Amino acid sequence: MRAIARYGLFPLVMFGGVALAHRAMTTVDPPLVVGAASLLAALIVGVAERIMPFDPDWNRPRRDRLTDLLHTVVSFVALSEILRAAFLAGLAALLGAADVPWTLWPVGWPWPLQLALALIIAELPYYWLHRWMHTTPALWRLHAVHHSAPRMYWLNAGRFHPLDAGLVFFTQLPVLMLLGTPAPILSLFLVVGAIHGMFQHANLDLRLGPLNHVFAMAELHRWHHARTGPGARANYGGNLICWDLIFGTRYHPGHDIPPDGIGFEGDEDYPTDYLGQLAAPFRRRP
Ligand SMILES: [Zn+2]
Repeated sequence: MRAIARYGLFPLVMFGGVALAHRAMTTVDPPLVVGAASLLAALIVGVAERIMPFDPDWNRPRRDRLTDLLHTVVSFVALSEILRAAFLAGLAALLGAADVPWTLWPVGWPWPLQLALALIIAELPYYWLHRWMHTTPALWRLHAVHHSAPRMYWLNAGRFHPLDAGLVFFTQLPVLMLLGTPAPILSLFLVVGAIHGMFQHANLDLRLGPLNHVFAMAELHRWHHARTGPGARANYGGNLICWDLIFGTRYHPGHDIPPDGIGFEGDEDYPTDYLGQLAAPFRRRP
């Protein structure tokens, strides 16, 4: 049973969730579907972490849950809505209409192919932004908030400084909107991102097998959070690992916890409270 869950839980929730969301969007408002899919995925991952944790010690809270909840609400609920509305208003002011008057998008393709195309396209600017965040000191200060997580669990998928989340926003939805991606595909893109983000950070004993060459999931992303070693400069993919494969930054040495743990060198005195983490990128550090 456990082996089935180990290999089957993520594909079941991801592919089943996306298929259900696509069906639901014919009768339910897409933002509601995205919200419901996100909450359902959080519930499934949160419960599964109790039953089949990757590291039982990571289920122990470290004064991080309230901080991570506030990050999630501010950076991924409020901010993304504000930025999306502002971007659409800016576009409308520029073009005189709320929709882009052109479409470069293959609207005749079956929806799963359109969704796959959206994921691959949006992944490229995200990949480079994420990579620069790790190699550019000013950007790293923002992104260090995410890597200050003392453990991997579902809610630190939302631990992002608002400025970090704001930059990430502009690598994804606006790019797709400017290409004329239909609204239902954009909503499904958000559903994939919500489900994948939670599983990617989950404390779950999962194996993806060949899907580790498709998704940038927890087996790979744990290494991205490694405190030291080659993993800390690898696996930059958000949803997909395709651009890491192409640019030679995919790293998957095995299923262990990174030998020096997760985090980054010098994170011992990093603030654990929300306001402290908001200010941390602008504070002088030794
Ligand atoms: Zn990172």
